[in-house]
Amino acid sequence: MNRSSQLFHDSQRVIPGGVNSPVRAFKAVVGDPVFVQSAEGHTLIDADGNRYIDLIGSWGPMIVGHAHPEVVAVIQEAATRGTSYGAPTEAELLFAQDIVDAVPSVEQVRLCSSGTEATMHALRLARGFTGRDAILKLDGCYHGAHDSVLVAAGSGVATFAQPGSPGIIAPATLTAPYNDLAAVERHLQATPVAAILVEPVAGNMGCIPPQPGYLEGLRALCDRYGALLIFDEVMTGFRLAYGGAQERFGVRPDLTCLGKIVGGGLPLAAFGGRREIMQRLSPVGPVYQAGTLSGNPLAVAAGRKTLELLRAPGFYERLEALSAGLEARLSPIVAKAGLSMHRVGSMITIYFSPVAPWRFDEVARCDLPRFGRFHRACLDRGIYLPCSQYEAAFLPATLTDHDLDTLAAGIAEAIDASVSP
Ligand SMILES: *Cc1c(COP(=O)(O)O)cnc(C)c1O
Repeated sequence: MNRSSQLFHDSQRVIPGGVNSPVRAFKAVVGDPVFVQSAEGHTLIDADGNRYIDLIGSWGPMIVGHAHPEVVAVIQEAATRGTSYGAPTEAELLFAQDIVDAVPSVEQVRLCSSGTEATMHALRLARGFTGRDAILKLDGCYHGAHDSVLVAAGSGVATFAQPGSPGIIAPATLTAPYNDLAAVERHLQATPVAAILVEPVAGNMGCIPPQPGYLEGLRALCDRYGALLIFDEVMTGFRLAYGGAQERFGVRPDLTCLGKIVGGGLPLAAFGGRREIMQRLSPVGPVYQAGTLSGNPLAVAAGRKTLELLRAPGFYERLEALSAGLEARLSPIVAKAGLSMHRVGSMITIYFSPVAPWRFDEVARCDLPRFGRFHRACLDRGIYLPCSQYEAAFLPATLTDHDLDTLAAGIAEAIDASVSP
């Protein structure tokens, strides 16, 4: 038994399933999970010393690469001044200013510690602001692990084939298929809805783009029926553009949730939006929201430095060019194998289906056992891809043309190797 498998075996004695977040257990693919020893740039080194090109990047945050020297330096420097105060700091002011400057619809922002918290607080705020109870989410979108959004959710919830999760209370959560405006309007006609919560580009059922007019249509429906539009940009924020999907697609939500990249790889997330709505939050307004570690100085330092790196001239143009370069290399390989693909910016998914899906039930019809074999074949070739058909890959800006060639060659072999069990 290799060391990763030994560690996984031992972990299961003291940690449920051996992992601290379900998808890490590799249940939807062949073989045991890889236990990580260290990472640098886009190279991940496992407990057995194997090296991988990492196309997960901690599920999105590591867009500038792991252990970026400038990010590490600011974390070290911050740690020497204390790791948590539970009191406001100037760095939080500067960071909030950076976020407000970056994200088109955000006039005020509040920091928290995870994407789960960000969507939970944004939904509570939307309910408090509108005085309505119901929320509407889209099938296959994932918004974290709290009650009202664990309904028809993507990511690990979909991977483990549960309709939702036992133990949740979500009576006021309506759902509609992604990319289907008519289904949304039927709900809005029947029920007063506080907010529509959506991943503007879905990344938790694989990468699924919004069809032309979809985001604009959601905006118009929200305006017509008095609901708030909440973009969950935990995945897309600072990835699809510096200002996120809302910059890329030119649609302004009322509230925005951020996470992953904004924390530079440390536990930090945020939600923000129109001043009039944000002013309903405690202590100025009645909607309560709080967190002992919110605005943690290490996380704020990592986030600020990461955003500074992303503001370097040409950063997103280069990321787009290398992402397009990978797509161009993969397109003929995928087409020849009778498979399909979606890419938006640096989010990309190969689907084990001849036609690329536009909604969750279409992803569920992919050849999932073959995906599981493909995933292991990629690992064997030093390529670390998301361990579920329901997860998008995230390209880091550190990839070179040589890496793209290596990836395309390895993925082509792995597709061939996955044909038969
Ligand atoms: C990852 C993710 C979340 C949850 O964030 P956590 O930090 O894991 O709680 C919420 N929404 C989206 C779109 C995500 O991708």
